[in-house]
Amino acid sequence: MTTFIVDEHHVFHSCPANLTPHVITIHRRIVDTVHTGRCLAPFSIEQADRIVTADCRRYAPFDDQCRNCRHVINVRTVTSEFRGWEGPENTRPDNIPADNTPTQCPASRDAE
Ligand SMILES: [Zn+2]
Ligand SMILES: [Zn+2]
Repeated sequence: MTTFIVDEHHVFHSCPANLTPHVITIHRRIVDTVHTGRCLAPFSIEQADRIVTADCRRYAPFDDQCRNCRHVINVRTVTSEFRGWEGPENTRPDNIPADNTPTQCPASRDAE
């Protein structure tokens, strides 16, 4: 198994299409990679005039892969940023401040 430890940064905004703060992009950064070991069930394939072996992850769907070939993603931390209103000024709702200062996302504050 290869485990990727990632940090995520979620960027939210409000816009005319959806007044409720919503995610517009997620930045992911791999901070560590942990390899468990070699493939436990390699495939043998005939290629031209010789037999070659390949890790099962190259051919098998996830559920059929050996435990060393499966990739797992562990999210270590999630940070968020609220960009405020991003739309024409004449469509800004009264309850969204005009300064658009990046701040903690109201959606993530509700989740705590
Ligand atoms: Zn939007
Ligand atoms: Zn394998």
